[in-house]
Amino acid sequence: MARLSELTLHELGDLLAKGACRSEEIVRDVLAAVDERDGRLDAYLSMDAEAALAQARAADEQRRGGRTGPLLGIPIGVKDNINVCGAPCTCGSRILAGYTSPYDATAAARLRAQGAVLLGRLNLDEFAMGSSTENSGFKPTRNPWDTRRVPGGSSGGPAAAVAAGECVAALGSDTGGSIRQPAAFCGCVGLKPSYGRVSRFGLTAYASSLDQIGPLAKDVRDAALLLGAIAGHDPLDSTSVDSPVPAYAAALGADLAGVRLGLPGEYFVEGLDPEVEALVRAAIERCAALGAEIVEVALPHTRYAIAAYYIIATAEASANLARYDGVRYGFRAADAETPLDMYARTRAAGFGREVKRRIILGTYVLSSGYYDAYYLRAQRVRTLIRDDFRRAFEQCDAILTPVSPTAAYALGEKTENPLEMYLSDIFTVPANLAGICGLSVPCGFTAGRLPVGLQILAPAFAEATVLNVGHAYEQACAWRHARPGIGDAPPE
Ligand code: GLN
Repeated sequence: MARLSELTLHELGDLLAKGACRSEEIVRDVLAAVDERDGRLDAYLSMDAEAALAQARAADEQRRGGRTGPLLGIPIGVKDNINVCGAPCTCGSRILAGYTSPYDATAAARLRAQGAVLLGRLNLDEFAMGSSTENSGFKPTRNPWDTRRVPGGSSGGPAAAVAAGECVAALGSDTGGSIRQPAAFCGCVGLKPSYGRVSRFGLTAYASSLDQIGPLAKDVRDAALLLGAIAGHDPLDSTSVDSPVPAYAAALGADLAGVRLGLPGEYFVEGLDPEVEALVRAAIERCAALGAEIVEVALPHTRYAIAAYYIIATAEASANLARYDGVRYGFRAADAETPLDMYARTRAAGFGREVKRRIILGTYVLSSGYYDAYYLRAQRVRTLIRDDFRRAFEQCDAILTPVSPTAAYALGEKTENPLEMYLSDIFTVPANLAGICGLSVPCGFTAGRLPVGLQILAPAFAEATVLNVGHAYEQACAWRHARPGIGDAPPE
């Protein structure tokens, strides 16, 4: 039998409900997996094993007292930009080194309220700015399928940890693909909820009009269970929407008969790796064989999405990151003569290169004289992209695309060329600009045994649709059973 740390959240939930294992045993096995593997993967930035075991024992105690629930006693990892009370929250940045969070993000509080064990802090690109986790101010995370390669980003820590059994599932954040792309690179399931579906309270802001918290998990049912736990209105986040949360997991199981799936030609273009394209097209054929009707749709403004995204995201980031000045949080540079000097030295020493680049870009596009030419135009393009999706969804229930143009690339391959790194986000940023939801589901392996992801997009608040399509596809394939061996790929 597989070890406990390799099982899914719902499998472990069944074992716990039957009394076949205890939460403490699960947490101990997950901690053992972290001890065995994290030296090679570097998925965690910090871990409080004693606190996790105490939460596990409390969950076991409550279960003995008659409490039930799918998350009770399950260890969940949390990306280090989502606040957990009493734990560090570095956002992968040296400017927040030494900061301890005084409160729970709403998503974390909701998991805690359901009895989940909040386990450790997972690595990310600094302030979630990046696509490979190489922009972490502390260390890069490695891909469990091939440790010479990146895990994707910015939620590279959560994706690598889920894939390697170093947590059962995790919370990540997605501003332009940061849940879906690392899920694809590491062979797990990742869901970006619609804007407003999950409270952003306690998620450290990167680009507030794009950010969403969502689950990374071993299969679609686990993602559905987690979404059900964290979704819903929160008076502490005025952009969280007050609409009922469906029973996502209970509703899984519908087949694809009569479901209309759209294929946008704009997502199958030059630059898409032929192996990735072949796997995604095979997945689409599989959906057709399962009864779905495939229709061509057009998303004509896709080619402007990267430019619009990197203007809007950097503009918002430049404002959001103004608060790190050495006064209130974390690191403060020593030996400054004046307050202004202290701000400048703190920010110069505390922020990494990519964060500085984005603050400069964002300040530029918002500056007088350039605001209309860049920021305002980008907002107009955003509306056009949203309208593209609205029209496309008149013809179909969901849209199928690749998640990323390539599988996981080598560490260092794109670090010298930020533009190339930005361009690789082409298939994920449109969903954030439009505020719609998107799921990344494994759809096979390249010849080099690297996982590839299929992206399923649906209109805002149609999470049940992406989960149902993803589940029907996933159940027809064996990919979800594959686990990485944690090591370098075998030589060719
Ligand atoms: N790679 C994108 C960026 O660097 C998206 C990151 C994210 O979703 N947080 O902005």
